[in-house]
Amino acid sequence: MLITTLGTSHGNHTYCRFHSSTLFEIGDRSYLLDAGDPASALMIRARKDFDSLKAIFITHMHEDHVSGLPGMIKALLKYPKDGKHTDVFLTEASAAPALDAWLKAQHLAWPSDAVTLQTTRPGDIFDDAVLTVAAEPTQHMKHPDFPISFAYVLKAEGKRIVYTGDLSGDFSDFPRAAQDEPCDACICEATHYEPELALPTLMQSPIRRLILTHIHDPWHGEGEQELTEILSGLPYPVEIAHDGDEFEV
Ligand SMILES: [Zn+2]
Ligand SMILES: [Zn+2]
Repeated sequence: MLITTLGTSHGNHTYCRFHSSTLFEIGDRSYLLDAGDPASALMIRARKDFDSLKAIFITHMHEDHVSGLPGMIKALLKYPKDGKHTDVFLTEASAAPALDAWLKAQHLAWPSDAVTLQTTRPGDIFDDAVLTVAAEPTQHMKHPDFPISFAYVLKAEGKRIVYTGDLSGDFSDFPRAAQDEPCDACICEATHYEPELALPTLMQSPIRRLILTHIHDPWHGEGEQELTEILSGLPYPVEIAHDGDEFEV
């Protein structure tokens, strides 16, 4: 599968990065993980096709992960094709009516059979016979009654990928899915914790390849070298993603 890190910044855009969105292409299908602004524009810039987009999985409802959703949905609705359908997984039940109202307020062709809004729950949430996706709660955002932030585990073509979403500052919620079972790639956020703090957990995790995204300001530009050095003792390759980078897994 081909993974394109369309946007790789954290809660702010920076001089060289936009908010987070990552595209997975498997055969003739594609899937988007997070849709921070300007996800649809970055799809176009990377010459990616909206018709093949089967699902969008949001990790949590912070603005930097969802602000590109209206534009993405507009792109999906604007040139409808028979049979084209995209599931959009939000992480709180209250988010669907809010997005529904915002799409209507923008006078889009909404509601539409082409896009369905869903709510992520812990466990298996998606299977289209090409890709399966399971959700594991994180502690990045908290609600007293139910989880509202998630990591995702993607399985396709015999590969297993863990996408952490945003984590907590003590790294205690680094997904069990990346600690208990080997993964071909772990796409991990790199903003909310000190990398030195994460080292012991990362060291003992059976990861084959670590791809860092959601990159914090200190690790931009010349800081990239410093982050690479901090993590240089890990027993697997570590890559720092930039907007538009591609990773074949
Ligand atoms: Zn974030
Ligand atoms: Zn967040």
